[in-house]
Amino acid sequence: MQKNVFLGLGSNLGGREAYLEKAIEQLNADVEINVLARSQILQTEPVGDLSLPLFLNMAIEVETSLTPRALLAVCLDIELANGRKRDEKWASRTLDIDILFFGELIIDEEGLTVPHPEVANRRFALEPLAEIAAMYVNPVNKEPVWAMLQRL
Ligand code: AMP
Repeated sequence: MQKNVFLGLGSNLGGREAYLEKAIEQLNADVEINVLARSQILQTEPVGDLSLPLFLNMAIEVETSLTPRALLAVCLDIELANGRKRDEKWASRTLDIDILFFGELIIDEEGLTVPHPEVANRRFALEPLAEIAAMYVNPVNKEPVWAMLQRL
């Protein structure tokens, strides 16, 4: 089981909290994924287009025997099962699941970059993450989560 796998969840459409809870339930239902910890749910302003509805964001820690690719596929399936439509990059979404960190792994492939390339720039990812993993060190910039958050 790979530990220290952190996911960022977000929703700004419909029953936002229910979508986040659904995501956790469905991740945990996968025999190869255990949800170990969850942050509180935070309300955040949309990045970019401020006219979009407010987001709810949270971070969770899971352990998994899946590869990063397989975990991404599970996340995308759960997004789609919860009404996610893929259109504009910054459009509203019922559910977004990002792989923020996958242990110490550094991956830069077509369609999969880990750590998530924007994690260090996004308060809506770092703030909930700091609740459950403040001391976790980003394998790319070697900074702990709390320090990345402080820099923003
Ligand atoms: P979005 O849901 O709009 O943030 O973008 C999702 C797309 O980003 C997916 O189709 C993935 O192929 C790609 N992607 C690349 N790296 C990651 C990552 N670390 N976590 C989630 N999606 C990723």
